[in-house]
Parts: sequence; structure tokens; C-alpha cells
Amino acid sequence: MPPKTRKVAVMGYRSVGKSSLCIQFVDGQFVDSYDPTIENTFTKKLKVKGQEYGLELVDTAGQDEYSIFPAQYSINIHGYVLVYSITSEKSFQVAQVIYDKILDMMGKETIPVVLVGNKNDLHRERVVSTDQGRRLADSWKAAFLETSAMEHEAVSDIFSRAVLEIERADGNLPPG
Ligand code: GDP
Ligand code: MG
Repeated sequence: MPPKTRKVAVMGYRSVGKSSLCIQFVDGQFVDSYDPTIENTFTKKLKVKGQEYGLELVDTAGQDEYSIFPAQYSINIHGYVLVYSITSEKSFQVAQVIYDKILDMMGKETIPVVLVGNKNDLHRERVVSTDQGRRLADSWKAAFLETSAMEHEAVSDIFSRAVLEIERADGNLPPG
């Protein structure tokens, strides 16, 4: 079977690790100072449940609670990865605002989303609990993961979960 192409937008407040997660996933390395204004599209092949996917990742420059939702992030996007940092309450709030804006924009009740609490290596700086993250994702019927781009923890899981959520929304997989 030829690979299915799926496009995923990586969104969230600034400095939460969106680019670091993308680069860690695509290149297998942690880049410490990546220009925060760069907006990039990465591609990577990925196998999920025996099916080959060509994944396109749109690494966005970041949003805040006042950002107008950019129309280009609603067109031809199959799913969303919403990233916050477990060290930033503000970034957790911004993830919720972005989620609401995506739903508004798409005019849908649910969309394929993976909620990601990044910087899981910074235990002592944690201000958002795992439980808070999970509860939020549950309320969206979305997938939830805590990750560390720095320590390469659960990074590729984000993108296989995103593919699963997209397939589920398309009715190709049972819910759960
Ligand atoms: P973006 O603005 O969301 O794209 O964030 P970046 O990927 O540019 O990362 C912002 C800062 O957080 C950089 O200094 C990164 O090195 C750092 N960073 C990103 N991910 C992690 C992580 O998992 N752990 C730690 N400790 N730092 C991280
Ligand atoms: Mg970035």
C-alpha cells in the first residue's frame, strides 16, 4: 500500500518546546537554540498499525491567548498537537484557548488532538500536574502525553498517537 499522507499542526504558547519536539522526532537530536520565529514544515515516514504514513508536521511559531487563529492552520490539517510546558501554568491556559479557537474555526464538536505536557525532565519546576493535563485531555476526548524533547522521552509517541486520533476521527478505528 502506498503511504497515506497526513498533516499535523504543532501549536502552543511560545517556548514550550514545539520546535524541539519536531526536531527530536525528525532528526533525533535536541537543538538548544532554535529561532523561535521560524515556521517550518517537516516530513517523516512513520508506521502505525502496519500502515505506512507520510507525516507532514507544521511547526508553528506559537500563539498566545490573543492570537487570531490563522486560517492556514485549519486548511488541509488533519490533526493537532497542542503543546504546553509542565513548568508554565500560562502555557496550559493558552493550550485551552487554542483548542477552543480550533473548534470554532472548524465548526466541529471534536477534532483529532494530542495534548502534550512537555519538559517532563524539569521535575522541580513542575506547576501543572499530570492529573490536570489528563483531565483536560479527557474533557476533549483527546490523547494525552507528557514528554521531554530534551531526554527524548515519548516524543515519537506524540506523532503515532496523532495518526491514531486522525484515523479514529475518520472512522477507521474503534473509539478508545
Ligand atoms: P517553541 O518556541 O515552542 O518552538 O520552543 P523551543 O523548541 O524553541 O524550545 C524553547 C526552549 O525550551 C529552548 O531553550 C529549548 O531548549 C527548551 N526545551 C524544549 N524542550 C525541552 C524539554 O523537553 N526539556 C527542557 N528542559 N527544555 C526544553
Ligand atoms: Mg519554535
